[in-house]
Amino acid sequence: MTRTRTIREHDAPSPFPVRLPNGKWVVDEKCKCGSRRSVHMDTVAYGHGACPPVSCEKFTFVEFVFATKHRAAKLETSR
Ligand SMILES: [Zn+2]
Repeated sequence: MTRTRTIREHDAPSPFPVRLPNGKWVVDEKCKCGSRRSVHMDTVAYGHGACPPVSCEKFTFVEFVFATKHRAAKLETSR
């Protein structure tokens, strides 16, 4: 498997995955710039900083990124 995108290193601990009360698993969040929170830099909070590749200055939440069915099933059994 080749990696075509770089995964940002984080100092702040990731809050993901997190299970919503409706049973859906959130694995990441989408910013208004279109990038995921996981590729934004940290502030005191995980991924709340800038995203230099797209000149985004600060993470702004627009929507959750949910786990695929397969991933969600795995997360269910790992708890
Ligand atoms: Zn952004």
